[in-house]
Amino acid sequence: MSATLHLPELFGSQVFNEETMKERLSSASYGTWKKCVTEGTSLDISTANEIAEAMKQWAVEKGATHYTHWFQPMTGVTAEKHDSFISPVSGGKIIMEFSGKELVRGEPDASSFPSGGLRATFEARGYTAWDPTSFAFLKEGSLCIPTIFCSYSGHSLDKKTPLLRSMDEVSRQALRILRLFGDMETKRVTAQVGPEQEYFLIDKALYSQRKDLRMAGRTLFGAKPPRSQELEDHYFGAIRPRVAAYMKDLDETLWALGILSKTKHNEVAPSQHEMAPIYTDANTACDHNQLAMEMMKKVADRHNLVCLLHEKPFAGVNGSGKHDNWSLGTDTGKNLFKPGSTPSQNAQFLLFLAAFVKGVDDYQDFLRTTVAFPGNDHRLGAQEAPPAVLSIFLGDELNAVVESIIKGTEFKDAGKRTLEIGVDVLPAIRQDNTDRNRTSPMAFTGNKFEFRMLGSSQSVSGPNIALNTMMAEELKQFADELEQSSDFQGDLQKLIRRVFTEHQRIIFNGNGYDDAWLEEAAKRGLSNLKSTADALPAYIAPKNVDLFVKHGIYTKEEIQARYEIHVENYATILSIEANTMVDMIRHDILPAVSKYAADLCSRAGSKKEHGIPCAYETNTAKSVAELTDQLMEACSVLSLELENIPAGPEKAMTYCHDKMIPAMSAARTIADKLELITAAEYWPMPVYSELLFSV
Ligand code: ADP
Ligand code: MG
Repeated sequence: MSATLHLPELFGSQVFNEETMKERLSSASYGTWKKCVTEGTSLDISTANEIAEAMKQWAVEKGATHYTHWFQPMTGVTAEKHDSFISPVSGGKIIMEFSGKELVRGEPDASSFPSGGLRATFEARGYTAWDPTSFAFLKEGSLCIPTIFCSYSGHSLDKKTPLLRSMDEVSRQALRILRLFGDMETKRVTAQVGPEQEYFLIDKALYSQRKDLRMAGRTLFGAKPPRSQELEDHYFGAIRPRVAAYMKDLDETLWALGILSKTKHNEVAPSQHEMAPIYTDANTACDHNQLAMEMMKKVADRHNLVCLLHEKPFAGVNGSGKHDNWSLGTDTGKNLFKPGSTPSQNAQFLLFLAAFVKGVDDYQDFLRTTVAFPGNDHRLGAQEAPPAVLSIFLGDELNAVVESIIKGTEFKDAGKRTLEIGVDVLPAIRQDNTDRNRTSPMAFTGNKFEFRMLGSSQSVSGPNIALNTMMAEELKQFADELEQSSDFQGDLQKLIRRVFTEHQRIIFNGNGYDDAWLEEAAKRGLSNLKSTADALPAYIAPKNVDLFVKHGIYTKEEIQARYEIHVENYATILSIEANTMVDMIRHDILPAVSKYAADLCSRAGSKKEHGIPCAYETNTAKSVAELTDQLMEACSVLSLELENIPAGPEKAMTYCHDKMIPAMSAARTIADKLELITAAEYWPMPVYSELLFSV
């Protein structure tokens, strides 16, 4: 495709997008769909039938044979169930059929998707329903229809439904604020998201020789190579040919799917790279990120590579995260986090900023839980990613504005006396470039916030649901107060000042990697939930449950179910890792090092027979043998811990955190020492230097 690649034609060629709908639907049906999307009206069955027919024709012309409802169960990955379009007719023939009913609603046999008890309590099965706001697309011969996934009683079992609900809610509350500023035009406010995605690429042949990578997605053993990222020559370095070919293929694949892949570059660690798309609405961004992660893996396979999305594939080497760039935009094309150029725009900007600051402070613990899972525990606070403490970076200029508002003092840059909100114009606030150290978990970068605690493998849905909902709550509180006001300017001024004063503790512009910050944060009373096991209980803290229930994002049962899934997932992941370690130690490492020691001994013996010195062989054999026994012992401890995991998900989580992790790390330390003294030909798997510098 490359020689004649014509980007505008390639882009979205696999997507049944608005333009295609316009072309292929009657204007009545197109209009009904458009109204459904923009105003939330429902679709009648005859329109659904027409859309289904057009979709099928389009898909079949492009070679599709199947369709699938494509959804995002709470596993965090996507699920599909493929049905072919065929329908038998007389004479042993078939026709290709697809009805509106099949488009709109499906019933996957969903008994094995995690439901956190929701299906047990309510209904045995779930159903999927078309999300007409997200375009259908073609993937490997199947027409994929983005859907939500619910139980029969309407409880959401997926990551899309609550995201859509939270987008509606933040829009509703933001509109109330806009009306107060006299904006009668805006009909909808949309959460905008641009997720930057980091990943590793390694050689497939090497990957297949590592059980840990195959089972757990990360290396469970591996001594630090003589060289890793010390030279700092990889970040933005020249892209190697094999990687360049991969990136080109990936870009073209993503473009065909209508994904706005924009930037690609090398990251800090060797073999680590990043892809960032241009931002879109949160729902599409979330779908696209899921699709992009899937394609990253598939395209890698075509190039005899493996794409690792795990947060920490290699100990001692920077892990991978995902930066969630988030803002609110209006259907009239305005960004509500862009400082304006008139007094009124500035006042509005400061009010949205105040809502965000208050929201992050009020719900810091919940935001933390949205990035809490075992893979991410390896990164947060490990001097390569933000600490587990939430704080907001505003940059020097904006911070000075906030301080002058709090103190009611002169604002220097503007050369003015007291800054009167809604009366004075703020100085132009430029995008702050001082934050390139990336140590802040939540940074204001000119016209958006960048939430940087996300792990590379996770769905961006959860964090964005939280951002949208906390924002909806704060905007609601502000609107409730200001709608009653008889002196809007005066009360606005007071409210902004009060909120910044009360929530200033969440603002921190210094180095987030510094230990002194953690002490300071503790003094400020900020929560520091170090691990997933520490963080998850906050998921169901009454104030957090209230927030989501009040705004109709989750029912009480839904949030409880999600909590249970996350808790269970923790012990599951750790058990898989620990079991894989035991397996590798018993079946691969111990036999290999034992053979090595024995061979050394027999070589020492034959040297001795000839009266030749054999200190190297005997000393090495001795060290290997000692470590071998220690490793055997550590492995027994680990396997005992595995047997002792208590029943009950919460107990299991705590147990795994307190007992399993130390046992795993003890075993690993010994194995890594062995790796360093064992001859290369004996070591049973490729080592870090091979894995990291292979591509
Ligand atoms: P950096 O690496 O400097 O953080 P990138 O350019 O790699 O920045 O990524 C920034 C991301 O933020 C992109 O996905 C971009 O589309 C997105 N973005 C830009 N403006 C907004 C906005 N107003 N709202 C949400 N996302 C945005
Ligand atoms: Mg970034």
